[in-house]
This record gives sequence, structure tokens and C-alpha cells, in this order.
Amino acid sequence: MIVVLTGGTGGAKFVDGLRQVVSDQQLTLVVNTGDDLEWWGLYVSPDLDSITYVLAGLLSKERGWGVKGDTFFCLQAMRDLAEPIWFNVGDRDLAVHLLRSKLLTAGKTLSEATQEITAKMGVQARILPMSNSRVETRVDTPAGELSFQEYFVQRWYQDPVNSVRFAGASDAEPAPGVIEAITSASAVILAPSNPITSIGPILAVPGIREALRLTKAQIVAVSPIVGDKAVTGPAGILMAAQGLPASIAGVAKAYEDFLDVLIIDNSDQAAAKKLARPGLRVYCTNSIMERPDDRTNLAKAVMSALSTKSDAYAATERQ
Ligand code: GDP
Repeated sequence: MIVVLTGGTGGAKFVDGLRQVVSDQQLTLVVNTGDDLEWWGLYVSPDLDSITYVLAGLLSKERGWGVKGDTFFCLQAMRDLAEPIWFNVGDRDLAVHLLRSKLLTAGKTLSEATQEITAKMGVQARILPMSNSRVETRVDTPAGELSFQEYFVQRWYQDPVNSVRFAGASDAEPAPGVIEAITSASAVILAPSNPITSIGPILAVPGIREALRLTKAQIVAVSPIVGDKAVTGPAGILMAAQGLPASIAGVAKAYEDFLDVLIIDNSDQAAAKKLARPGLRVYCTNSIMERPDDRTNLAKAVMSALSTKSDAYAATERQ
């Protein structure tokens, strides 16, 4: 079984490629819930939704979020009712938020609600929220402390960032199955997701980082940073705010206590040489997922790096 720790954008693209290489039944996804929000009175979990939609074959590839071909009648009606509409919700997407909220109100945990929704959508992979406790990513800016969605979606990540914290993390527990999945995995993959606001909240749940340190499985991360910035979004800015260089070195540093393999873009080959340390293997490939083939090829490169057992440092160009 392969465990993937993931957020919802780079992560979903990567999972789309991975399922061309590994069967869905072999995949367990541990998904960030630090971005979750209450919206129009509903519990919305954007990363769980994106990962569910990609595994159900429903994710909109043009937008990278939401359901393909969705309509936005409810959003328009809410605008006419003078309700906030900065967080985009399509009509079929809304149905999932309604069902999840109904299940949670009826007393189900987020894990149980996720299992029920994913089963109904025909998902064969196992999708686990990182925790059933509420862990909220909070971004401190000169304008005050913002939720991740306020920072990212409402304000277009224009605010300078002082720091990021995960409210509730110290009291949270990993969701059922998360620790067992990591300790019994044949491999653990950290998707090319934001190290601070997608992988960071997962690692902040007590017990998960320890499980990664202890597992016998090889752990590979795909860098979401190419050169000195994120492929998309604010990962580089947020890494700098948390004291990490916005580079592959920063990604390696964020995961240094458990990482075995780092997959980076071909364009970072020179920088890779500076990462040399015993126990870390670094592989270069095309890590920019523009076309469907890019996604599959990146997944193949990851699987191939995992099957290479050498402990020695290597910077190997793979296509
Ligand atoms: P979020 O939950 O929406 O923040 O999504 P993720 O954390 O899963 O994905 C955001 C990260 O994906 C960003 O840091 C991007 O740099 C990274 N990303 C997006 N597209 C690509 C790509 O094609 N290749 C790589 N390597 N990273 C990507």
C-alpha cells in the first residue's frame, strides 16, 4: 500500500498521474484539513473534495478545483441575496458540502463522512482526513490573523506574511487509520503540495511526524518549488515567513528528519549537488505537470526512484 500525504492542487494533479501507474486500491491518501472552512453554514473541506473528485474522475482540470462541467446557479442566487461569494462553490460541489454537513450534524466524524461520500462517488482508494479534530491554519499578516482561505482565496495572497500557525494542532489526534497506514506502507509519498499550509498541518498533528520517522517505508517528496519559487501559489512566500529558504533546500529542510528521496525539477540539477547528505537521494525529472503525460511521467519517476535502493547520493536525470 502506498500512502500519499497531500493538499488539493499540486497534490490532486500528482494523484491524477499516480493512479495511471498504481491502482486506486493500492492508494491511501492522507489529506490536509487545515484549509477547511465554514461557508454558507456548511462544512467545506477543499482538499478532501479535490482529492475525492480526482479519484472519482470528476475534478475540473481547467480550474484545478471543483467538479468538471459544474454550474454556478446557487452562487449567482447567493450573490443576488447579497451573501458573500468570494469562495466559489459550484452546484454539484455544493451537494457534497450539504451531504458532509448533514453527516457531521448527525454525529458522524469527518472520517466517517468522508468514507460515506467517497464510497457513494465510486472512489476505490482510501481517503483519510489527517484528523477528525479541527486544526485551523492561521496566517498572521499586518492586516491581522487570517484563515487560510481568507488569505489565499479572498485576498489573493497579497498580504505580507509574518508567520503561520496551526490552531488546535497540539490537542488533535490523527484520524483513525492514519498512523497504521504510515507504519505499514510500502512507500510514503509527499505530493508536490505546499510544505507549510498543506503538508505542514498534517505534520503538526501529534504522532504523524513520529510515525514518518519510525516507518520502515521509503519516504519520497516531490518538490513544489522549482528554482526560487513555487510552481503556483504562495508556498515560497510562506516558507520564507517560516524561516525556510524558498528553494529545494527549503523543501529538504522541512522534511529533513524523515526524508529518503527528493524529486526535483531538471532545472534545479545544479542546486541538487548542494543537498548532498548521507541517506538522502535526489532525482531530477520534469516536475512541471502541464499535460496529462507530464503527470504520469512524474509518477513513474517517483515510483522508479523508490525502487532504486542505493543509499548513496545521486542526482540522476530521468525522463
Ligand atoms: P492547495 O491545498 O490548494 O494549497 O494545494 P497543494 O498544496 O496540493 O498544491 C499547491 C502546491 O502545488 C504549490 O506549492 C505549487 O508550487 C505546487 N504545484 C502546482 N503545480 C505543480 C506542478 O506542476 N509541479 C510541481 N512540482 N508542483 C506544482
